[in-house]
Amino acid sequence: MRPYILAETNWKDIQNQKFDVAVLPWGATEAHNYHLPYGTDIIEADNIAAEAARKAWEAGAKVIVLPTIPFGVNTGQTDILLDINMSPSTQAAVLNDVLEVLNRQGIHKLLVLNSHGGNDFRTMIRELGLKYPAMFISSCNWFQSLDKSEFFENPGDHADEMETSLLLHLRPDLVLPLEEAGEGLDKKPKIKAYKEGWAWAERKWSQVTEDTGVGNPKKATKEKGERFFEAVTDKMSGLFVDLAKANLNDLYE
Ligand SMILES: [Zn+2]
Repeated sequence: MRPYILAETNWKDIQNQKFDVAVLPWGATEAHNYHLPYGTDIIEADNIAAEAARKAWEAGAKVIVLPTIPFGVNTGQTDILLDINMSPSTQAAVLNDVLEVLNRQGIHKLLVLNSHGGNDFRTMIRELGLKYPAMFISSCNWFQSLDKSEFFENPGDHADEMETSLLLHLRPDLVLPLEEAGEGLDKKPKIKAYKEGWAWAERKWSQVTEDTGVGNPKKATKEKGERFFEAVTDKMSGLFVDLAKANLNDLYE
């Protein structure tokens, strides 16, 4: 039983415990090229949150990891079998209910640990922050916390070399042989402004990529995944520790 994982702990152990930070990992359930499981983002969120919390706990931070929310925003993938969409308004309602508990019980720091590119909690956090002024609510994207080019040869953002390497490290039993993976080729927008990135529109996933992947996974290895996992959980645990220590009335210098 890990005392920083809510789903594993019990009332006997935690009823008198004081926690400073709650972490809410948030995943998605969606196709990841041909070779990775639908639960890839959930597996990443579970493992990164747990290992970062272990490191932070050992450094003295009172952090508690809540169960991972398994569904993310998949509005662009309606024609991909069993990609399950949770709309942003539903996510906001879930987040509100979690915040209501934390706020009432005096755990005033919540970090949403996001594991899926289609999820964006920032506007929700602005709105819910008005409703719960005593709460400090923040979010982070673990997949943007490090320079991926220092770890991987091929770039990408979905079922790519990074995600494949991570899964080879975390759950090799769920990864098909790499010969069965697609190349993860994606089509770029014809309209210049979207290509440049200063204008944005949701990508219609099945028109952009044939195998649902974006980024070539073929050079993925277990060793690359392990090295990245260590680095990303080191960085994440640093955030947990900083948050636990932070004085909410003195956040700026
Ligand atoms: Zn993913």
